Amino acid sequence: MKTDFLIIGAGFAGCTLAERIASQLDKKVLIVEKRDHIGGNAYDYYNDDGIMVQKYGPHIFHSNLKEVWDYLSRFTEWNGYVHRVLARVKGKEVYLPINLDTMERLYDRKFNPEELREYFERKRVRLDQIENSRDVVVSQVGEELYELFFRNYTKKQWGVYPEELDPEVTKRLPVRFDHDTRYFTDKYQGIPKHGFVKMFEKMLQHKNIPPVMLNTDYREIIDSVSFDKLIYTGPIDYYFDYIHGKLPYRSLDFKLETLEMDKYQNAGVVNFPNDYDYTRITEFKQLYLQKHPRTTICYEYPKAEGEPYYPIPKKEYQEIYQKYKREADRLKSVFFLGRLAQYRYLNMDQVVDGALNLFKSI
Ligand SMILES: Cc1cc2nc3c(=O)[nH]c(=O)nc-3n(C[C@H](O)[C@H](O)[C@H](O)COP(=O)(O)OP(=O)(O)OC[C@H]3O[C@@H](n4cnc5c(N)ncnc54)[C@H](O)[C@@H]3O)c2cc1C
Repeated sequence: MKTDFLIIGAGFAGCTLAERIASQLDKKVLIVEKRDHIGGNAYDYYNDDGIMVQKYGPHIFHSNLKEVWDYLSRFTEWNGYVHRVLARVKGKEVYLPINLDTMERLYDRKFNPEELREYFERKRVRLDQIENSRDVVVSQVGEELYELFFRNYTKKQWGVYPEELDPEVTKRLPVRFDHDTRYFTDKYQGIPKHGFVKMFEKMLQHKNIPPVMLNTDYREIIDSVSFDKLIYTGPIDYYFDYIHGKLPYRSLDFKLETLEMDKYQNAGVVNFPNDYDYTRITEFKQLYLQKHPRTTICYEYPKAEGEPYYPIPKKEYQEIYQKYKREADRLKSVFFLGRLAQYRYLNMDQVVDGALNLFKSI
């Protein structure tokens, strides 16, 4: 088999580069994907009940990058969904990130921006040095809000308390001094009107892109394909046979349930910082603005082993990644891109931006 470009992985990184190369360079692009579907972690589908769901947890597109938004908008319309997240604490439901509305609901009193600033000033813990994630939070909002929203949630999410995590994990704590209850304040946000997969299908609709080779680990075919350049969006440590050790990830279990009711909860996503083993519940119909007499919800249970989702934010693992990166930089016809190849938590827009930039340099 012969192709100009071989792309490993059919997520945002792989699909964006395939589309650009096929349409702008008029080169043949073969995509190999280990899973049985395209779309990477943004994969969505109609379940047996006819409700659109996402297999790998809630994905909401949001960005301030006009170039990325304009680019994706060639392949989809957007449904206009604005993401809001509620947290259930002390028997109440309050919006995240913390804003005036959150504080008013929590403490049954009015706050104006000045009063909230004074409140934090009184509550915040004065520290000489910020050494971990806990320090980041308590130095801004104090112990009480730290306990309510961060301590136990972090333990569930990462398996360790904030004291053991680098400050970068909560580097910038978004606290708002207004009544903006949106989760993302980005200029552009929403979900593709007909789902992420329909958008990806449109991106890959080109004479230079043959059907994606699904259910195939690239190693099964690499020796039988002749190609000029390789774009790799899988795990970087796997590419180099773990020569510098394995890069650890935090994983998740998703448990989906369809219920005989029109609406289950008061926001698309509800977080449970302190109760239960799951971190949050997503109600997909709210994200997709779908009308249906039933509803499907998804519980998220963090775990240590399994599909790689979140790179563990610790210095020692960054050092291992840097060793792999040095190996990667030496290869002239292989390009590494995306959340697994760069061992970084990247939002979808950042991945598309990275792909558009890499394309310009190829
Ligand atoms: C629970 C969760 C929620 C998220 N929510 C959001 C959100 O709301 N908004 C947002 O912007 N971002 C969100 N993200 C991040 C988003 O998932 C990523 O930005 C996006 O998936 C990155 O695309 P990618 O192409 O780099 O990686 P992926 O989507 O993972 O695609 C890589 C593909 O490569 C394939 N692959 C790997 N190894 C091989 C191999 N050996 N051979 C063949 N194929 C291989 C994989 O199967 C995969 O399909 C979320 C992530 C998670 C985990």
